[in-house]
Amino acid sequence: MGKRTQAIHSGYSPDPSTGASAVPVYHTAAFSYSTAQELADVFAGRAPGNVYSRISNPTSLALEQRLAELENGVGCIATSSGMAAITAVMVALLQAGDEILSVAGLFGGTVSLFQNTLGRFGVSVRYADGNDADDFALAVTGRTRIIYLETIGNPGMNVPDIAGIARVAHEHNLPLVIDATLTPPAIVRTGELGADIVIHSTTKFINGHGTAIGGAIIDTGNYSWDDGQFHDLWKWGRKAGPFAFIAYLRNVVYRDLGGCPSPMNSFLMLQGLETLAPRMKLHCENARNLAAYLAGHPRVPWVNYPALPASPFAERVKAQFKGNGGSLLTFGLETKKRAFAFVDAVKLAKNMTNLGDVKTLVVHPASTIFHEYSPEERVRMGVPDDMLRVSVGIEDFEDIRADFEQAMEAAKE
Ligand SMILES: *Cc1c(COP(=O)(O)O)cnc(C)c1O
Repeated sequence: MGKRTQAIHSGYSPDPSTGASAVPVYHTAAFSYSTAQELADVFAGRAPGNVYSRISNPTSLALEQRLAELENGVGCIATSSGMAAITAVMVALLQAGDEILSVAGLFGGTVSLFQNTLGRFGVSVRYADGNDADDFALAVTGRTRIIYLETIGNPGMNVPDIAGIARVAHEHNLPLVIDATLTPPAIVRTGELGADIVIHSTTKFINGHGTAIGGAIIDTGNYSWDDGQFHDLWKWGRKAGPFAFIAYLRNVVYRDLGGCPSPMNSFLMLQGLETLAPRMKLHCENARNLAAYLAGHPRVPWVNYPALPASPFAERVKAQFKGNGGSLLTFGLETKKRAFAFVDAVKLAKNMTNLGDVKTLVVHPASTIFHEYSPEERVRMGVPDDMLRVSVGIEDFEDIRADFEQAMEAAKE
């Protein structure tokens, strides 16, 4: 099936007892069985079934099945948030002394998780000097345990060479974990570029309407977990063969951490997912037009959108994402004062910190998402004081342009 068909039909066929065509919301904490033996068999994995919604739930399973098929992976686990997904993967793969190898430009919450929270448990993060395979080959150390990327850095707008970095990772027998939130499967199946584990904040494009927080972890099946590096995982998951990682997550780490989604939120993600492809097409088209408008504006000193011909990543966006640069762009207005005036003046665009919503959103990252860092740290993270981030929605482009034009007038000085 094509990805548009999968997004609508995978993971569920009408419930034979009721004929319900939408996935039912199984709002239940636990599941009853008529005999002690039946429940014991399900607990022990000898029979299929759900026991408790922290571990699995039929509504969430439908979402997981649909996402696994869309990413062409061996399995998926849905989580309560994108951060819960990243945390579960890190806890499953890392231990004290291990190093994450990544590159600057990452989502602020991920930077904080790696540096502050995981730092307390003896895990460290190292950043390669650039986004090319050579930069990563030079930065691997004896302690590197995973390589971690975002398909497009948020808010760095940097685009790493995924296939090249995957080769480096696999030469060193390291799994490549990629946060593909900014390029959901309507744009690319990140596993086909070499990712071993794909993570999504489903809060963003997959939901698409800003109605719930959620995340997902997909094992693409590219990595062989039997190489001895991930001892606990393999000891537990050996019986599951290629499903070792998902089995270990579900039955140990994900179960222990407790970051399960509410069934209602899984329903909202399923509903959003159905229209993912047509929405992404409009997001990318509007973002490309807005980037071109801003690049040609006399009062805008810089614009960063990876599909803009002037971007250093334009060729890579063509090669990896068929030219689709996603909905996120950043631009400068010279000073924080002008940036604030612009945010205060927009009417259609909403001043919010979400992204991937059908609505156009603007935010001043330095004073919000990155407020806890010093000005020097922010510049190193690629977040200058004059920067605005836009998540371009799917409204009529002319209305977005008109809103920006009037706000630009208000933010003249
Ligand atoms: C939003 C976001 C996250 C975190 O997801 P939540 O659902 O907010 O927890 C992680 N990575 C990226 C790239 C994001 O944009």
